[in-house]
Amino acid sequence: MSIVRVDGATQIDLKAIDPGDTGLFSDKAIAKELLKLERKRIVAVQQRLFAERAQSLLVILQATDTGGKDGTIRNVFQGINPQGCRVWSFGVPTEEELAHDALWRYHQHTPARGMIGIFNRSHYEEVLVVRVKGLVEEAVWNRRYDEINDFERLLARNGTRILKFYLHISKDEQKERLQARLDDPAKHWKFRVGDLDDRVRWDDYQAAFQDAINRCTTPEAPWFVVPANRKWYRNLVVAKTIADTLEDMNPEFPPEEPGLDKVVIPD
Ligand code: AMP
Ligand code: MG
Repeated sequence: MSIVRVDGATQIDLKAIDPGDTGLFSDKAIAKELLKLERKRIVAVQQRLFAERAQSLLVILQATDTGGKDGTIRNVFQGINPQGCRVWSFGVPTEEELAHDALWRYHQHTPARGMIGIFNRSHYEEVLVVRVKGLVEEAVWNRRYDEINDFERLLARNGTRILKFYLHISKDEQKERLQARLDDPAKHWKFRVGDLDDRVRWDDYQAAFQDAINRCTTPEAPWFVVPANRKWYRNLVVAKTIADTLEDMNPEFPPEEPGLDKVVIPD
């Protein structure tokens, strides 16, 4: 599979990773069938994770506009027990959030033991949009990479597995997707003219993504660069990575109360 796992041993160059790659797969119909199998694996382990209440999983999704964060969440997590899962989407910070340290608003939403937490955008925005738009001075965003690594280490040491996915699309693909949004009235709610400013700053964003990936990559919190021009491939490899990780976490049902074999349900 051509999803790229970045774990600190190597530095990546985003330009060298083809957003249109589909690895060993060429057949969309087969990929969709395989996705169903990966989802079954996720659902099966989630039951044990929820019952065990000892570990948690944090899934972080980052991408440019139209990169497919919402679609990935919809497709990959279909069918899982909603009680064991929370999705948090992070937009422009509130006044209260801005009055705190940059990680404050994210920390409150990290998954409790037993839970899967999904961050649609995340603390990485503090070194992405904030850096590209110059919302704080360079000295401030520059030290955030270390702060993020410390934050993720804290979570990892307290039982949270962290998976970070960068959904990698090409500039041409973004243009097509933005055009499709503009052409379809049912997608107009997602279209903000202001987002086009971000497209104009495409290269700055790519540089910021690449730095975030290279500077915040640790064995306990790896980044995955997902070729994401083909949605079916993106969904499949993200689902497989999550399923593999959950199986590796190997949560167990808690011990049952002794004597259950002798219990009789009263009339
Ligand atoms: P969406 O994900 O389409 O709902 O858009 C959320 C918007 O919030 C995007 O334009 C982001 O750039 C913006 N945003 C997210 N996090 C931050 C942040 N920490 N500071 C400033 N803007 C942010
Ligand atoms: Mg948007």
